[in-house]
Amino acid sequence: MTAQHTTDDFDRQHLWHPYTSITDPLPAYKVKRADGCMIELENGQQLIDGMSSWWCTIHGYNHPVLNAAVTAQLNKMSHVMFGGLTHEPAIALGKMLLEITPPSLNKIFYADSGSVAVEAALKMAVQYWVAQKKVNKTNFVTVRSGYHGDTWNAMSVCDPVTGMHRIFGNTLPLRYFATAPQIGFDEEWDASDIAPLAALIRTHQDELAGLILEPIVQGAGGMRFYHPEYLRQAAQLCKENNILLILDEIATGFGRTGKLFACEHAAIAPDILCLGKALTGGYMTLSAVITSTAVAETISNGSPGMFMHGPTFMANPLACAVALASIKLLLSTDWKTKVKSIEEQLTQTLAPAKDYPQVEDIRILGAIAVIEMKNPVSMASIQKRFVEEGVWIRPFGKLVYIMPPFIIGTEELNKLTQVLLKVIKEIN
Ligand code: PMP
Repeated sequence: MTAQHTTDDFDRQHLWHPYTSITDPLPAYKVKRADGCMIELENGQQLIDGMSSWWCTIHGYNHPVLNAAVTAQLNKMSHVMFGGLTHEPAIALGKMLLEITPPSLNKIFYADSGSVAVEAALKMAVQYWVAQKKVNKTNFVTVRSGYHGDTWNAMSVCDPVTGMHRIFGNTLPLRYFATAPQIGFDEEWDASDIAPLAALIRTHQDELAGLILEPIVQGAGGMRFYHPEYLRQAAQLCKENNILLILDEIATGFGRTGKLFACEHAAIAPDILCLGKALTGGYMTLSAVITSTAVAETISNGSPGMFMHGPTFMANPLACAVALASIKLLLSTDWKTKVKSIEEQLTQTLAPAKDYPQVEDIRILGAIAVIEMKNPVSMASIQKRFVEEGVWIRPFGKLVYIMPPFIIGTEELNKLTQVLLKVIKEIN
């Protein structure tokens, strides 16, 4: 039973996968079904899921409660346009989102993916200032090592080196980038860490609509965890210098870092919050951009008197119904204790890797573990080894990381971490 048997010829020849070549693609393993923490390949091989399908499937796959929510909604309607119509799933989800997000956030815009949420958030910030006749306040500041999605403006605020700036060059709007936060989550705070961001904000406030940050965890731009004080001071700088704070909680939201939202680590609230990924428990694509009454009303009172965005699948009822069920399911469990115990197990079991010569650093926070290698890993060979050993882990660059579904059992997590150690130890 080799890994090659689980790929598909049509797929190889005609289907584009994320960040791959169509002429020389890496294998794409064909999945037959997925249940709980298990992904079953077509050849019957079972893989323990270490990725939560990129931060999404917090309750695991094929969950009866989420299946029931989708099915019940499907029998009523799968979709209606949101222009001029509304429906209970959008309303009920909205009420729930306002209950669990910071109280200063009151107005919700549903979008269809994380990247589109980021686009909408950036547009909101620009419209907010334009509505006040501050027509020069249209640019953004952010930090290096960030990641906010693959659409045009989302790309423009991704890290300019690890992101796609080199390829798209001057077709991307030019943003202001501060050095990435250097003080780790648990390290001793040093006020100099925020200085580069503070200097940029103070110098360019007249042209800045907002600051966009991933709170605490920088995901695909480097899997780095920074100090809550950095976030707290960044929020303060935004207030003092009249720019909006946009927090992209698309990856961190819904418990992944040990708090329901990562901004809670710093006890701050943004002006605009982006949610996605685990919002639907990984069942389908949906995102939400939530802002304050002040921002929403300012936009609405300006010209042209409305927020200029409206996706076809806005507030898709199936997605809203499953999102509501997913959040209720999360809140009905002792997810904090579960995430804490995942964190403790990750910390204990991965500790030996500190002594591996191949390893540069280990970072663990909540249900996220990152092993930063000294050199980039070969995706083709490491992926194959993980599959042979019965786990699903997909590294990138120097980063081998896991963020399992919260429902993972001790044994399954143990297998995941043991295989992880074994495979990275094999690398020369
Ligand atoms: N922001 C962050 C922090 C993300 O991690 C991602 C997805 N990796 C996005 C935005 C983009 O979301 P999507 O892939 O749903 O467009």
